[in-house]
Amino acid sequence: MVFISANLARIDLGMTKHPALDLSLEDALPGDAGTTLAIDRASEVPVYQQIRRRYREQILSGALPPGTLLPPERRLAERLGVNRSTVLAAYGALKADGLVGAHVGRGTAVLARPTLAAAAESRREPALAWRELVRRGVASREDPVLRDLLELAERRDVISLAVGLPPAELMPLAELREVQERLLVERGTETLLHSPTEGIAPLRESLAARCASWGIQVTPAEILVTSGSQQGLDLIARVFLDPGDVVIVEQPTYLGALEVFRRAEAHLVSVPVDGDGMRIDLLEALLARHRPKLIYTLPTFQNPSGAVLSTSRRLALLELARRYQVAVVEDDPYRDLAYDAEPPAPLAALDPLGRRGGTIFVSSTSKVLFPGLRVGWIAAPEEVIRRLALAKQSADLHSSTPGQWIVDRFLREGRLDRHLARVRPQYARRRDTMLEALAPGAALGLSWARPRGGFYVWCDLPSALAASHLSAEAARQGVCYLPGSACGAQATTVEHLRLNFTALAPAELREGGKRLLRAVASALALSTARNPRDGAGAGTRPIV
Ligand code: PMP
Repeated sequence: MVFISANLARIDLGMTKHPALDLSLEDALPGDAGTTLAIDRASEVPVYQQIRRRYREQILSGALPPGTLLPPERRLAERLGVNRSTVLAAYGALKADGLVGAHVGRGTAVLARPTLAAAAESRREPALAWRELVRRGVASREDPVLRDLLELAERRDVISLAVGLPPAELMPLAELREVQERLLVERGTETLLHSPTEGIAPLRESLAARCASWGIQVTPAEILVTSGSQQGLDLIARVFLDPGDVVIVEQPTYLGALEVFRRAEAHLVSVPVDGDGMRIDLLEALLARHRPKLIYTLPTFQNPSGAVLSTSRRLALLELARRYQVAVVEDDPYRDLAYDAEPPAPLAALDPLGRRGGTIFVSSTSKVLFPGLRVGWIAAPEEVIRRLALAKQSADLHSSTPGQWIVDRFLREGRLDRHLARVRPQYARRRDTMLEALAPGAALGLSWARPRGGFYVWCDLPSALAASHLSAEAARQGVCYLPGSACGAQATTVEHLRLNFTALAPAELREGGKRLLRAVASALALSTARNPRDGAGAGTRPIV
């Protein structure tokens, strides 16, 4: 019996026998009105944690004695109506807690002596029901896809293609050491004190010069240094958006921006992206109908699709935005990572109104230098910068002072450009390695476009493949990716994967690709054997 009320699914684990082991699930999970394990889908607590907690309580209370076998993962997943990877994650966590052990051929069993740490932690009851105090509504909703993905990516046996990072082993550490030492000698503690909210003056100059090299004419006063471009997006939302305001976003788009706009309680309207970027031919009708405040676009090596908005579309977009009096937020952190040909000029450079135009340009050093320094920036008219700076003051006073000094030196001394000239060919090779590793996937129905820059391959899944099956199989094979469903404001009919090719060395990319294709093959077998696309509707946000 399964009954679901509102958000609470209470699943009867009752009298079913575990055929192979002749052990009833009731034996494996007693208590809770005799035979049930309740999953609260509205809860802040991830589903796998709910499962883990329930077993944990039972094991530590002695209700599940040593040697008891837990139900097979697939069986429990089916019973609870969750992905197998969710159960895998719960069992993995119980193993890490020292409560259960896996035995090949026997399954997962309760260990004889739970570790003391596990026992002690279980007694630590929360002092306050925090859940009751946090903000209600969309703003406080955690994304289960990302939460579970992060957990999975943490597993040491998992190859993560889900990240958006430059490779750690190619970072210019020797140069960093040199720059830091010189800064300390030349500037001393100035590099470690508070600094202006808008950013240190030398960096604002260097960033204005960087913008100028891309054709964007701005003065240092039109630059705001931000703590990563993520903060830039957040500040823009805080300054411009009231709840219910409409923001046009691309489909797909950068998931971190979706989070920002959702938190601001904006109404998101999507425009599809094709190989030439945003479908500008569909834009005007949406502008006329929804009267948005902002258009958020990633015109250059888009995250996640890799698409580049053509120059003619760029000009058409600017013209429409001017006509409908909408600000354009241009998020452009990948511009310096072109592997084939230079990308078109930024929107902010093409705007015929120049500095009086309506483009807010957002970028970052995270993709090209050290993401942990948290140095991004916004270039916009001074009036906008002033308002954004006020919002920033209440968020973090100013961005990291040492980080700003370091980035300034990397820009000013040509170190960043030399670094880019060194790593770009290596990233291009990694892209090619990833594409070679994926090539056999074409026979399985996978398809993708060759990205001309940036960090990602955006892969279309064959229509017969249920995303929920793939996430479970990928977890089993030890590989993870960013599911396309996380990158859209609305559900789509075709499922996608975003695969990063920069962070891992070529050998790991090859192995990751192999694991992924193995997962696709077995998920396809499962999907066709069972109900195709099951879970792809209700579970547009699969738990990875
Ligand atoms: N925008 C885009 C398009 C991104 O891909 C990212 C990083 N994934 C960011 C903004 C945020 O980067 P950061 O805050 O590290 O600058």
